[in-house]
Amino acid sequence: MALDVLCEVNSCVHNISNENKCGASQIYVVNHKEKNASSSAETDCKTFEPSDL
Ligand code: SF4
Repeated sequence: MALDVLCEVNSCVHNISNENKCGASQIYVVNHKEKNASSSAETDCKTFEPSDL
C-alpha cells in the first residue's frame, strides 16, 4: 500500500502543489484509453479532479 503518492499534476484539486504530493485518501489508476499498459505513460489517474486554477 502506498503511503505517499508523489504527483506533479498541480491542476488537480487533490494535489498539494508546493510538495508535489497527492492528498486524496485513495487513488484509482487506470489503463490509458482502456488498453493494457506496457509503460507508465500508458496509465492515468482516474481520481483526478480539476482545480480552479
Ligand atoms: S488524484 Fe491523481 S492526479 Fe490528483 S493529485 Fe492525486 S495522484 Fe495526482
